Amino acid sequence: MEEYAKRVHDPYFQPQTATTTVAEDSLLNRVWVPGPVIVGAGPSGLAVAACLKNQGIHALILEQTDCIASLWQIKTYDRLCLHLPKQFCQLPLMPFPKDFPTYPTKQQFLAYLEAYAKQFDLKPVFNTMVVRAEYDRGCGLWRVKTKVNEYVCRWLIVATGENAEEVVPKIEGMNEFIGPILHTSSYKSGDCFVHKKVLVVGCGNSGMEVCLDLCNYNACPSLVVRDSLHVLPQEMLGRSTFGLSMCLLKWLPIRVVDRFLLLVSHFMIGDTNKLGLGRPKLGPLELKNVTGKTPVLDVGTLAKIRSGDIKVYPGVKRLACNNVEFVDGRIEKFDAIILATGYRSNVTTWLKDTDLFSEKDGFPTKPFPEGWKGENGLYAIGFTKRGLLGTSMDAARIAEDIARQWNESMKHLKSFHNPAP
Ligand SMILES: Cc1cc2nc3c(=O)[nH]c(=O)nc-3n(C[C@H](O)[C@H](O)[C@H](O)COP(=O)(O)OP(=O)(O)OC[C@H]3O[C@@H](n4cnc5c(N)ncnc54)[C@H](O)[C@@H]3O)c2cc1C
Repeated sequence: MEEYAKRVHDPYFQPQTATTTVAEDSLLNRVWVPGPVIVGAGPSGLAVAACLKNQGIHALILEQTDCIASLWQIKTYDRLCLHLPKQFCQLPLMPFPKDFPTYPTKQQFLAYLEAYAKQFDLKPVFNTMVVRAEYDRGCGLWRVKTKVNEYVCRWLIVATGENAEEVVPKIEGMNEFIGPILHTSSYKSGDCFVHKKVLVVGCGNSGMEVCLDLCNYNACPSLVVRDSLHVLPQEMLGRSTFGLSMCLLKWLPIRVVDRFLLLVSHFMIGDTNKLGLGRPKLGPLELKNVTGKTPVLDVGTLAKIRSGDIKVYPGVKRLACNNVEFVDGRIEKFDAIILATGYRSNVTTWLKDTDLFSEKDGFPTKPFPEGWKGENGLYAIGFTKRGLLGTSMDAARIAEDIARQWNESMKHLKSFHNPAP
């Protein structure tokens, strides 16, 4: 490692890789990073950097935007609150302030993250998008490239998130629709949709909440529900549904807990099938385990569907002018369309030749809890489909693993510099 650190500053030294040319490489400033490089300054990048700092290891964080937690700062709507209670969303080593509500607002969560970065003196390098990263077998190190620099490091931590890129479906006639079509990542509030007929495509937590927000701004929203889904009340028996589920799972098999959740839900919110929201065959927790599909936690949207303020439609067949034709043959006029069609990982676009991530979807190939560690000093954080709780688990494991290797290297270096007499 020491030898390599000297050699990367040598202008004549070119580590070997299969895919980049010497000419391309020579345009980049080569920077040796003694600790890990973390790609992404979202909650996951910050959490693992803090855990490493706690072990005495300084990491370099590279972030493509100009702020921490860009998903939360730039791509979320104003009324967003954490979907899960705060005790399941806090990052390691620093709890939420006591006076925060059970479900902190987006602004409170961002204030917490700013305080977190300050507390651990985390200073990401902003406006720095990683365009390529690959392991150089010749020298046994990672080469992480941005447009101007090549960072060379022993450990690479991928923290670019499950929500790095918007998923925008192709719908026939999309170019002909005369109203605006936007993804939820660009939706802030319903104030520009007052009295407008808005079609929200997709019924996850975001789609359901955007519909509610539109109602509150006197718009007329409709919701496209293509597949079956589980909607559960956010709270049950005086506790958060998520917290109650976690607690019951300690004692009971998942199917029993699922049956219990569905029974209490039926009692509290009635038969969602009657509202056009059919339930899947698998229970909510089992479905989450098998497919990663999160149940929707209702924060008031069901009541608006029941009262007719939000209409439910099946899949969209095609668009034309200001008409939307649905798969059941109905045709309705709309002023705008909001795509609540989710996000995808971007890992496969920049990380090369690894078997930690699947080429298919940019998620770890190994199932939870095995997907955090790859070969040759590569790590993944925040890809567990378990939100911020998964992030905290990954951060602790990764920091411990790197600290063990770091301490071994330090011992080795010390004995090299101070050989026994
Ligand atoms: C609307 C919404 C509500 C949610 N609510 C909750 C909740 O209540 N509880 C919960 O646990 N989870 C929630 N989630 C899940 C959410 O994904 C996590 O809370 C959290 O944001 C994940 O953090 P992350 O750091 O892994 O990813 P992100 O927050 O997506 O951060 C990844 C960072 O990496 C950067 N990046 C990406 N590619 C590159 C690149 N090539 N080079 C450099 N930087 C790059 C991005 O700019 C971004 O800043 C919600 C998600 C959404 C969309």
